[in-house]
Amino acid sequence: MSRYDLIVRNGTVVAEGAVGIADVAVVEGRIVAVAPGLDGAAREEIDAGGLHVFPGVIDAHVHFNEPGRTEWEGWATGSRAVAVGGGTLCFDMPLNAHPPTLDAASFDAKRVAAEAQAVTDFALWGGLVPGNLNRLAELAERGVVGLKAFMSNSGIDDFPAVDDLTLYEGMARAAKLGLIVAVHAESDTLTGRLAARAVAEGRTGIRDYLAARPVIAEVEAVSRAILFAEETGCALHVVHVSSGRGVALVAAARARGVDVSCETCPHYLLFTEEDAERLGAVAKCAPPLRPAAECDALWQHLRAGDIPMVASDHSPAPATMKESANFFTVWSGISGCQSLLPALLTEGYHARRVPLPMIAAVTAGYVARRFQLSAKGRVAVSADADLALVNLAAGDVLAAADLRYRHRHSPFVGRRFRGRVIRTVVRGVTTFHDGAIVSGAVGRLVRPSAPPASAAAG
Ligand SMILES: [Zn+2]
Repeated sequence: MSRYDLIVRNGTVVAEGAVGIADVAVVEGRIVAVAPGLDGAAREEIDAGGLHVFPGVIDAHVHFNEPGRTEWEGWATGSRAVAVGGGTLCFDMPLNAHPPTLDAASFDAKRVAAEAQAVTDFALWGGLVPGNLNRLAELAERGVVGLKAFMSNSGIDDFPAVDDLTLYEGMARAAKLGLIVAVHAESDTLTGRLAARAVAEGRTGIRDYLAARPVIAEVEAVSRAILFAEETGCALHVVHVSSGRGVALVAAARARGVDVSCETCPHYLLFTEEDAERLGAVAKCAPPLRPAAECDALWQHLRAGDIPMVASDHSPAPATMKESANFFTVWSGISGCQSLLPALLTEGYHARRVPLPMIAAVTAGYVARRFQLSAKGRVAVSADADLALVNLAAGDVLAAADLRYRHRHSPFVGRRFRGRVIRTVVRGVTTFHDGAIVSGAVGRLVRPSAPPASAAAG
């Protein structure tokens, strides 16, 4: 009889405090031992010599658009792309699927679609919009990982932005339910009126779009959201912060005891306004790409621990929605979930010497703690055996043909990455190996085990 189901031998394990060679033993999907030279046999042995063993990537921000807009992406292609990038768990946003996840019935419909196809585990965000305050309790009961609200136009008619009263009252209810509220923080007044003025004056180019979403619009909205969180006692998470000032506001609020966290995305760390002009529609996002000084500020904040997590905000669309002479009408969203870990390894670890445990924390460990996913996010005894085996030295230029998205476009195409994901393991099952998806739909719903952890946790 085998003692273990799986042993991953001789890999360099990236754990919270240390990086060192060890074996990882797994029984029934859980890690039962992490130590060098483990005795005993296993039904399956993986030789990880020369590879780094990271906790599987947890991407807290993707839009897979199924059900309802599956032609934009879908769980099958989206989750495979996550797996190819070393991902073992992703949190799907409530919008861009139809119906959006605003009540129990829409949650159930999305869960069915995901369970039928996902090769990663998944968690679901619920939505906070005008008119669904009485649905928040049933979303909490279903196990949403948090509630997402837009402080500016979402770009999708079926997911309206919150007004201040809805956000304030929604946060008060979320606090009682023990749910985190996540906000897209840009001022609707500033961005909406600047955009309308530019379009009315016929200024519809890339630079005009960038100018219509200035940093001050983010700073104002982050400030307001923090104020509401402080007033209501609600745990707040600010998604895709694009500016150093936005991060600094979050860090200062946290320092004075407000329960607030934030994320940024690889595209804000790697790309600038000049890249937006060079790449065009494929790099359109909101908030938009910023000047190079903001990229540097974000990296400094990340190294300082002020940006505790990085998510992809994978927001795909058919290429036809990315074609317009008027840049304001181009679909706003970047396809990038497959590149999250390679981007951070290349530009974070290799180029800027961000330590590997910090890369693991921003892509897995902190995410699991912040969202109370007690079995996730670490290569340690009693955690789920969610692993990404990486050859840190291997380099690849990303080609469009490498992408697993339904629509194979991304601003990361043509980029040279150092750090190749060799194998991805979800609860002990290999989902991706040597360039191929090798599992069926193993994905399960993951739900918080308790109310949200304080943002300071980690
Ligand atoms: Zn998003």
